[in-house]
Amino acid sequence: MITRRQAFKTAALGAVSFATAAHWSRALAQALPAPPPPTPTGPHKLPPLGYAFDALEPHIDAQTMQIHHGKHHMAYVGNLNKAIAEAPELAAKSAEDLIRSLSAVPEKIRTAVRNHGGGHANHTFFWQLLKKNNGAEPSGELAKAIDAKFKNYFTFKQVFSEAAAKVFGSGWVWLTVDANKELRIESTANQDSPLSAGRSPIVALDVWEHAYYLKYQNKRADYVAEFYHVINWDFAAAQYQKAVG
Ligand code: MN
Repeated sequence: MITRRQAFKTAALGAVSFATAAHWSRALAQALPAPPPPTPTGPHKLPPLGYAFDALEPHIDAQTMQIHHGKHHMAYVGNLNKAIAEAPELAAKSAEDLIRSLSAVPEKIRTAVRNHGGGHANHTFFWQLLKKNNGAEPSGELAKAIDAKFKNYFTFKQVFSEAAAKVFGSGWVWLTVDANKELRIESTANQDSPLSAGRSPIVALDVWEHAYYLKYQNKRADYVAEFYHVINWDFAAAQYQKAVG
């Protein structure tokens, strides 16, 4: 219960606060917490994107690329460095090497390395895979392998798009090469990588909402349909040659 006397006091205090609003806003500004600490430094660095943020327009918009690379990928790098600071003996290992043998990572940082090392490796691969292709399709040995496994490029796209639609929550869709040098389409949850299962990425698609939400909102299928315009098939073919030796 607020008595009349208390109500009067409160009103009076309100008037005082109002009268000195300028003073208080100055004091508040001085009392605001310091800006967040810079991204933890360490052996892992954010690689440059290698092209302009708007290079993939209209298929992937510039703002999405800027935030995805500069904020999301940067956060994975920072958090990976934070984890590695607790196991300096791993400082010389690349993110790919770390997630290829997660069992060699001390248990106390294994989940952090799986998530953030995976995030770093996956995005580093993804940026290199993306390039406007003007309708190009796979060629050479990779094209032959895709035709042998999926009948043709059209069917490959159907199977890949279905896999992308089926990812529940956040994750990735991949075209990989397995230990028998066979192609396969697979998906991973969160930032898990096929490298952890001994398979080599050839094509990768990020289907986390942060990868498409600004332009496509809930329409993931539209984003996936546009993805085929920005696959750098030369990069994918080179990954295939490396994987099959
Ligand atoms: Mn992402």
